[in-house]
Amino acid sequence: MQHHDVLIAGSGIVGTTLALSLLKAGMRVGLIEAMPIATPSQNHEKMPIDAIDLRVFALTRASERIFRHLSIWDNIVAAGISPFRQMHVWDASGSGEIHFDCSDITEPTLGYIVEQRAIQTSLLAALQHYNSLLTWYRPAKIQQFALTHDATAMQVQLNDNNQLITRLLISAEGANSSIRSAAGIPYTTHDYAQQAIVATIHTEFPHQETAWQRFLPTGPLAFLPLANPHYCSIVWSADTPIAQKLIALPKQEFLTQLEQAIAGQLGQIINCGERALFPLKRGHAHHYVQSRLALIGDAAHSVHPLAGQGVNLGLLDVASLSEVVIKAHRLSRDFGHVHILKRHERWRKANTLTVMTAMDGFKYLFGNQQPVLSWLRNQGLIMTNALPLVKKTMMRHAMGLSGDLPPMAK
Ligand SMILES: Cc1cc2nc3c(=O)[nH]c(=O)nc-3n(C[C@H](O)[C@H](O)[C@H](O)COP(=O)(O)OP(=O)(O)OC[C@H]3O[C@@H](n4cnc5c(N)ncnc54)[C@H](O)[C@@H]3O)c2cc1C
Repeated sequence: MQHHDVLIAGSGIVGTTLALSLLKAGMRVGLIEAMPIATPSQNHEKMPIDAIDLRVFALTRASERIFRHLSIWDNIVAAGISPFRQMHVWDASGSGEIHFDCSDITEPTLGYIVEQRAIQTSLLAALQHYNSLLTWYRPAKIQQFALTHDATAMQVQLNDNNQLITRLLISAEGANSSIRSAAGIPYTTHDYAQQAIVATIHTEFPHQETAWQRFLPTGPLAFLPLANPHYCSIVWSADTPIAQKLIALPKQEFLTQLEQAIAGQLGQIINCGERALFPLKRGHAHHYVQSRLALIGDAAHSVHPLAGQGVNLGLLDVASLSEVVIKAHRLSRDFGHVHILKRHERWRKANTLTVMTAMDGFKYLFGNQQPVLSWLRNQGLIMTNALPLVKKTMMRHAMGLSGDLPPMAK
């Protein structure tokens, strides 16, 4: 029977960041990952556009601070990030638009566009300093788990026959968390009946370190600026039948449709790399914690990607859970006790629900073509754009510079 202070299932960005945070505090961590280690691609013929990771994230300044706190921000920067300093949002059915600029709040950036693999490689390199405290179980999955008879620990059995024991079991398995289901934690889902096309594209005009977002009647289209000034990562959310048609188009037709959808804002769309489709669902667990168990990241909540908040919410979970668990551990308290874990849940639930409600509000408001609503929406954008104070407050909030943040994110 192997003993760990904390066992984390799922080594996505959220699970791995939590592992690093707990290891830095001297805790013994077990990391269980279902997928085998990926072998690097041998395809040296890849076009530059295909060499860019399809999965990129818009990171907030709060996420930057969390990575700085864990001393890996400089490595992420070295692996390649693209700051964005402005954001331009406009409505396809009207004249409403809003423009955000970091210089209005005397900040150097609004956030960063980062490839998933830049974050993952930096995290994995940092974990190597803690080989004596960290045990990987990979590829492996939890077969069953149960509280010990005195409820002081959780016993876990893996599908590779390893038997583990821990004070705290954490699911960072993403939206389809098996631990959440096995623990019987109710989970509310909503299918947006939309899918998002992601791809890297090459544009005629430079992106000007600006994130561009156009709200079309069928869903939002975002152009996220990459390190090459003529490359963007797109997230094109559309009603499912439309998204499926678009992704199946021959490349040239797809580029033409994309150029029209962004209203030629960046000139001709010259090329695109591989295209991938992601179904869009909202999901929310009714509880984030139970005795000796916690859900973090998409295992606890998944949101519409229209404001790029998903992984940022997960990193705030890491900051908050680390705060309560490490503090209890230092004071020799039982950090897996539900009373301790509830502090984390209270901290995070309010913030997550606010973000979810805001995302649904945007989705409904911009997806609705009723003339009155369309008029109101456009007037709202025009008015907000003319109110510097309101805009500054919105910017600071979206960047994670305000609100009740855990210390690691401050
Ligand atoms: C199109 C699109 C665009 C997005 N853009 C952004 C953005 O710009 N900014 C942003 O913040 N967010 C964005 N998101 C959201 C973001 O992708 C997620 O919020 C984030 O990936 C969640 O991270 P996670 O670590 O919780 O889960 P995941 O990334 O899903 O990782 C889960 C890990 O657990 C492993 N796993 C699964 N099941 C098991 C098991 N039973 N046992 C062990 N391991 C298991 C998986 O293999 C994986 O490694 C976007 C999402 C979509 C769909």
